[in-house]
Amino acid sequence: MQASHTATDDAQAGFRNALVAAGLLIPTGVDGLYGRSGVFEEVVERFNDLITSWGRDDGAEVMRFPPALARHHFERSEYLKSFPQLAGTVHSFKGDERAHQTLLRRLEEGEEWTDGQMATNVVMTPAACYPIYPTVAERGPLGDDGALVDVYSYCFRHEPSLDPARMQLFRMREYVRVGTPDQVMDFRQSWLERGRALMESLGVPLAVDVANDPFFGRAGRMLAANQRDQGLKFELLIPITSEEKPTACLSFNYHQDHFGLLWDIRTPDGAVAHTACVGFGMERVALALFRHHGFDVRAWPGSVRAALWG
Ligand code: ATP
Ligand code: ZN
Ligand code: MG
Repeated sequence: MQASHTATDDAQAGFRNALVAAGLLIPTGVDGLYGRSGVFEEVVERFNDLITSWGRDDGAEVMRFPPALARHHFERSEYLKSFPQLAGTVHSFKGDERAHQTLLRRLEEGEEWTDGQMATNVVMTPAACYPIYPTVAERGPLGDDGALVDVYSYCFRHEPSLDPARMQLFRMREYVRVGTPDQVMDFRQSWLERGRALMESLGVPLAVDVANDPFFGRAGRMLAANQRDQGLKFELLIPITSEEKPTACLSFNYHQDHFGLLWDIRTPDGAVAHTACVGFGMERVALALFRHHGFDVRAWPGSVRAALWG
């Protein structure tokens, strides 16, 4: 166990160092917090456009939010029930001049200064789809076609890691479906197929497998087991720093009536709406492409270049 851990750690640190040396990732001194080079961003943008082209016929409604949620939406979302360990809240200084002096003195003396920071009404977005449910709920009952939304956001998760594929701030593109159980299941099935074909066009080795979220605590283990047994979450996995433990690059999630109940979203007949989402991890896909095709995008296989650059 210990030995294989070390090998994984070494592989992750090795890949990270190589990416930094090539200038693709710009280190900040904090694990999981990176700048990205122009080439890295170009790959992310081309991949983002590729997703759009595979989803275009569905006519999703585009919505873009800053990488933050309203605190009242975050509180109602029950994120803290399931993933308190990942959440990031935004705090700010709200003190008077005296408190300011104290803050500066503590900073100067290398003491803890953040305990004077107060919570704001802004919380970091943990997954791109989170702002969508209250927004759709606000509109009242769904029409016959339900809702289909295209979102793209930076997300924050407090999971610092040596693994360059596990960042604290990363981008997630998602399509989110809200409607009847049939509409939502059709959506997820269609994206399971499209997601695989889309990634196959990029020439990377992949597998699709059932998965679970890292629900917190003892009760969380039950939730995770239940999620797997019911096949509620699938991931498209690509080896990046390990063959045995490939990295989740896309996920296909069926929430049943979880968000529908939380936000009181209704179908035209008054039933509680079901929801599903497909999420693309933008940095992870870019890293998978660099891992399998090399750091020089001009030398990537013609078919891959054609898929991305047309
Ligand atoms: P993992 O099991 O690796 O933690 P996840 O199940 O938490 O992934 P989701 O919550 O389904 O991931 O998020 C959707 C997508 O966002 C993932 O498939 C992945 O591509 C990307 N993603 C998730 N967490 C991170 C992270 N820390 N850094 C970079 N990308 C991430
Ligand atoms: Zn989602
Ligand atoms: Mg995770």
